[in-house]
Amino acid sequence: MNKKQYVIVSALAGIILLTVALFRYEERPLQKTYFHNEGKVFGTYYKVQYDGTADLQPAIDSAFKAFDRSLSMFNPESVISAVNNNRDTVTDARFEQMWAQAMEVSEWSEGAFDITVAPLVNLWGFGFKHREEVTEAKIDSVMPLIGWQKVRLENHHVIKEDPRMMLDASAVAKGQACDVIAEVLKAHGAENWLVDIGGEVVSRGNNSQGNAWRIGITKPVDDSTGVQNEIQEVIEVHDIAMATSGNYRNFYYEGKERRSHTIDPRSGKPVQHSLLSATVVAGNCMKADALATACMVLGEEKALPMIEKAGAACYLIIAQGDSLVVKTSKNWQY
Ligand code: ADP
Ligand code: MG
Repeated sequence: MNKKQYVIVSALAGIILLTVALFRYEERPLQKTYFHNEGKVFGTYYKVQYDGTADLQPAIDSAFKAFDRSLSMFNPESVISAVNNNRDTVTDARFEQMWAQAMEVSEWSEGAFDITVAPLVNLWGFGFKHREEVTEAKIDSVMPLIGWQKVRLENHHVIKEDPRMMLDASAVAKGQACDVIAEVLKAHGAENWLVDIGGEVVSRGNNSQGNAWRIGITKPVDDSTGVQNEIQEVIEVHDIAMATSGNYRNFYYEGKERRSHTIDPRSGKPVQHSLLSATVVAGNCMKADALATACMVLGEEKALPMIEKAGAACYLIIAQGDSLVVKTSKNWQY
């Protein structure tokens, strides 16, 4: 080989090596790892785990912000606040999704679930107003403002029978936000995730060890501080949307009377029965959340047929004397 041939062969070899190297670099996917984000939202905590190649905290934050602008009763600029204060406003997609789900569960529960319950929630001191003395006369004066059939959504506007009517989406919002965050993760290429907002959960696939996700069902022991977390049972699942409602965290005593944050829109009063918590699994978390609250209003007997009608599954924890008894729907398989 003369010098010229040597240079040509070397150059060709170099080009081939470089091409192979570049090709292999292109082929090799970026290493996926599990990310973990957590913080506070809607007056509770959130924890999100997912696989991916980038930390999605900014996308999660902006999804929460958009959600807040639509459905937070505590944000005076939100769509729901505008509706409550009779400011002319156009409803957005989030709001309308919440509305459709709420109305469906109102129908299934024959009015036990009702987002127009807001004036009662305020009266009993669980809303944004300070607690005041509750009298039968005050309840009677608020009752005409309650009723899911007294409001309509028409052409992106909420029409109320009485301008004093107000909406409360708290019983659906956490579940709906779980679904929204799961969508954000999916859109960014995640294939496995666990989204937990204040106990409402959406999961997909596996955890970072390659196993099913382990999700605890909280034991309903009185804890108004919300710091205890005794577990009744752990379930192992891959894909699930699950929500729990209970009266063991958000309640207060007035004398000997225990007042919970679940209000029966038909009586105008906080519910009082032996059903301590309801965990519901449904096709999405927004539905599970609304159904779980509906179970708490209906009580154990009526909750089961409603859950069947809704095509969901439930796990109820009931007080029996000093012990806790678990009752599940026939299709509970976890
Ligand atoms: P948690 O997950 O904190 O147990 P829920 O999902 O059960 O909460 O929602 C309870 C909240 O829903 C209450 O604090 C109140 O704002 C609202 N609410 C109370 N009673 C009803 C009802 N009958 N229908 C719809 N929403 C209700
Ligand atoms: Mg709920």
